[in-house]
Amino acid sequence: MQKIITKQEALTKGLKRYFTGIKCKYGHLSERYINGSCIVCDSIKSARYYKTPKGKKTRAVFFNNFSKTEKGKALNRKSSNEYYSTRKGKDYKKNYQRKRRSIDIPYKIRENISKRVKCPQTTNHLNIPSSVSVPLIVSPVNSKLLVHTSTLCSSNVFDH
Ligand SMILES: [Zn+2]
Repeated sequence: MQKIITKQEALTKGLKRYFTGIKCKYGHLSERYINGSCIVCDSIKSARYYKTPKGKKTRAVFFNNFSKTEKGKALNRKSSNEYYSTRKGKDYKKNYQRKRRSIDIPYKIRENISKRVKCPQTTNHLNIPSSVSVPLIVSPVNSKLLVHTSTLCSSNVFDH
């Protein structure tokens, strides 16, 4: 049984919820938010709301904004890495690349170039060990633009 915390107590302790031990009018024996609403009723209400077109829009806006924050970006990276390591994710990626290659020429060129740098078998005929840095852009001004072939290979998440 949950400990009874009055609204006043919760307010003084800086809590967001309190517990009266009295059922709400729909029969839920649960905590209440400081504004008095039962948390079960509230979650039912919001679940219903997010199924409506307006609710879907609100949620989309929220996630769009959230994905722009550092926390959101980190979460997105994590979940997409997890997804792309599954069979389904790998298949999706393959299909996506195939489709994009056929319609997006710059993408195809970029991919070809990166493959040439990435794959050891294409550089091996030049007797370059995979640990040697390959200049991506040869420029006397910015000679720092060196890319490690081994780094590129390890970052290559696609199946060949
Ligand atoms: Zn309720």
